[in-house]
Amino acid sequence: MSEKPKHFETNAIRLQRERTQYREHSVPLFLTSSFTFPNAEAMRDTFAGEADGLIYSRYSNPNTDELIQKVCAMEGAEAGFATASGMAAVFASMAAFLKTGDHVLASRAVFGSTHQVLTNIFPKWGITATYVDPLDIDNWPAAIQDNTRMLVLESPSNPGLTLVDLEKAGQIAKAHNLILNVDNCFATPYLQQPLSYGADLSVHSGTKWMDGQGRTLGGIIVGKQALIDQVQGFCRHTGPAMSPFNAWVLSKSLETLSVRMDRHCQNAMALAERLETHPQVNEVRYPFLASHPQMDLAKRQMKYGGGLVSFEIKGGVAASMQFLNKIKLCSLSSNLGDTRTILTHPATTTHSKLSEAERLAVGITPGLIRISVGLEHIEDISADIMAALAI
Ligand SMILES: *Cc1c(COP(=O)(O)O)cnc(C)c1O
Repeated sequence: MSEKPKHFETNAIRLQRERTQYREHSVPLFLTSSFTFPNAEAMRDTFAGEADGLIYSRYSNPNTDELIQKVCAMEGAEAGFATASGMAAVFASMAAFLKTGDHVLASRAVFGSTHQVLTNIFPKWGITATYVDPLDIDNWPAAIQDNTRMLVLESPSNPGLTLVDLEKAGQIAKAHNLILNVDNCFATPYLQQPLSYGADLSVHSGTKWMDGQGRTLGGIIVGKQALIDQVQGFCRHTGPAMSPFNAWVLSKSLETLSVRMDRHCQNAMALAERLETHPQVNEVRYPFLASHPQMDLAKRQMKYGGGLVSFEIKGGVAASMQFLNKIKLCSLSSNLGDTRTILTHPATTTHSKLSEAERLAVGITPGLIRISVGLEHIEDISADIMAALAI
């Protein structure tokens, strides 16, 4: 009789590698660059891929292996690879598959650096991209070319919190034989599992909600074994491996992902509702708010609405600056996904390199404020923000 599959929360805590002879309770840290072999034949067979065994920490390490195993269980993936940062994961998940002459169809609302890779780096190698509107997925097939090889998207997006219908994206990718590559960073494996909608790859920045404590950089790519084999081949030789220490931190972080996300989402929802009634606020964006144009879709494909709230303050850039300067408790930082509530003004920071037109096309108006809602008491978060909004 096979054992019943364990729940998300249980896997996050109990999936761990075999203990060492010390029977330690917490996971040990394997700070070793390489591994040894009992004899020459074992070394030969391991190098030939005919025997299981660890070789070198650029390829794999017990700590990165354990982290990968956990994320695979969380997302229903066959295999994965851990990288030094989220962008290393985004880059490898594309570069491992694309060659000169290939074309990428990408949602316009993707992370800033992903946009840079597609717009300024890949063209150097003859790889081109076309951007499509995340809200107009029914017209995506019209932008597919003979040489289109990959569909790249992010849902919910940063900072506009626009969603892409994952089920439709999965159908389009399947019908046109494209690799569907989803940046699942904002939702986390707890709130959304893109592979269950037909995505081939789910990519994360571990730096954000996965660690959730602002301590470490990391990235992870999970997906089908055959595709991850290609990612592994690419990464083994190009070297973006995650450090064992960061993998150890992140694996521990995942043990509390569900409880942290429950509270982040609860605080974010409460704050979004309060901001919505504020006279200084034009518009609030939060996927689970009834006023979000895609609330039904959000409720279909996400467990809760996530930890980010965006809102538009009346008065544009000047009012945004004035508001941020009055914040006392919360932090002004460009990061997100932390225990601490963080406020950002995307137009003058994370998205300042875009033209005004490009910003507006992804919903970044001059008065848009992004809040990564933390785990402080909701009344304290709210009091700080409401006091800063008062004129
Ligand atoms: C932060 C982020 C990344 C990049 O991750 P790093 O760990 O900073 O390299 C990629 N995608 C999204 C959606 C992000 O928020």
